[in-house]
Amino acid sequence: MKHQPPPPPLPLTQPPSLGGGGVGGVSGSVISSSSGSSSIVANAISSLNGNNSATSSSSCIQPANNNNNHNNNINNISSSFEAGKSRPPLYPKPKTPSFDKDRDYIGFATLPEQVHRKSVKRGFEFTLMVVGESGLGKSTLINSLFLGDLYKNRQMPNVEERIEKTTRVEKKTMDIEERGVRLRLTVVDTPGFGDAINCEDSWRVCTSYIDEQFRQYFTDESGLNRRNIQDNRVHCCLYFVPPWGHSLRQMDLDLIRRLHRKVNIVLVIGKADCLNKQEVRKLKERILQDLEDNHIQLYQFPECDSDEDDDFKQQDRELKASIPFAVVGSNTILEVAGKKVRGRQYPWGVVNVEDPEHSDFIKLRTFLISTHMQDLKDTTQDVHYENFRAQCISQISQHALRERGKLKRDSISSTNGFDAAISETDRLLLQKDEEIRRMQDMLTQMQEKLKQTHLMEMKKNDSVIDV
Ligand code: GDP
Repeated sequence: MKHQPPPPPLPLTQPPSLGGGGVGGVSGSVISSSSGSSSIVANAISSLNGNNSATSSSSCIQPANNNNNHNNNINNISSSFEAGKSRPPLYPKPKTPSFDKDRDYIGFATLPEQVHRKSVKRGFEFTLMVVGESGLGKSTLINSLFLGDLYKNRQMPNVEERIEKTTRVEKKTMDIEERGVRLRLTVVDTPGFGDAINCEDSWRVCTSYIDEQFRQYFTDESGLNRRNIQDNRVHCCLYFVPPWGHSLRQMDLDLIRRLHRKVNIVLVIGKADCLNKQEVRKLKERILQDLEDNHIQLYQFPECDSDEDDDFKQQDRELKASIPFAVVGSNTILEVAGKKVRGRQYPWGVVNVEDPEHSDFIKLRTFLISTHMQDLKDTTQDVHYENFRAQCISQISQHALRERGKLKRDSISSTNGFDAAISETDRLLLQKDEEIRRMQDMLTQMQEKLKQTHLMEMKKNDSVIDV
């Protein structure tokens, strides 16, 4: 038989062009904001260049000097939190299958690359909720994490206003691009949380916002047009704990208890530079103990795959051991020993935000962005949203059953004779009900039989062992 030559390889499209900085370059990130602050990282980037009062309004940050030694850029997010560790490239070029070399080649080995390319093309979405009372450093931390300026036009309320104020929800979105990968980040802030004397409404605002997003997604998903569904579900909630308490306060426990089955909660001790190392350790221990005593489950880190490399396993262990993350935030770039660092200046020295000895900032950023962002999304979809969906469906079916019963009763009572009253549809419905009941009975009987057979089998096995 004459051998047919294999078809020529399909051309694999190249990834979208890099932001200009190149892989591992210092600045390849393009950031724009939907709230009109198109120069979202202008300040951050210009601070990196030694200019803290940048006013550039460009929405596209061009690559800075590649030889720049700053480690504050968003491209470094993908780097491990210990300097010098090499991580695999985030966006590897897909391999072209070599048909000529391998005649047994079918082709499905490229499936991961196909999925990869498709999702990169589509872009990613992530919604982060920040909860905690005013002044705990939430906005500073978010700006430091994503090198943005999401809170440019913020107005701080005075004390009287804060006492009166109710909790609101403020949503801000920014588009970030890094090495051709687009991320639409939405930050949901809850200004006024815990400020009023009565904190009742604080938790209600948070829970109803989360539920509302689930409800919206459920409605969109059940609708006719399921294309272009906007996913506004909250994937992670950063809950800020003040550093000055002994542990969690009653209001923290109340809120976390109400939220922990709806959203992935990650606890963060804000302004951790107010505490020394020993105090941080003790506070973390007491918080974890409180959570255990109150049967509260925060976001559970998935187990590391056994085939992961040792560095990754070690990093995963360190991340798990750092919970709750004790963080320090700052948007100020300081020069320490000739190196530019993001830090806070005190009379006795500089707190370097990115130094693991000073704060868990880099660990939090690694966890949130580099290693667990997808798992946070998966857990939201597979656990929290599924719970919500199951509840919705059971409520809908219960409501439908009640309505049907009511309709049946109404139609019967509206006529005199029972037989004459049953319309054709009602008769069919009753028939179906009867059928379902019969099938359920059969199922119960079969289950019973199976159980008995299983028991008998076990007894038989026991007697064999006895002998
Ligand atoms: P938010 O109201 O929770 O968003 O708090 P802000 O981010 O506006 O911070 C309130 C004040 O605390 C500002 O003056 C910040 O400079 C300062 N701040 C922010 N983060 C830290 C931190 O980690 N440590 C210390 N000591 N101060 C911080």
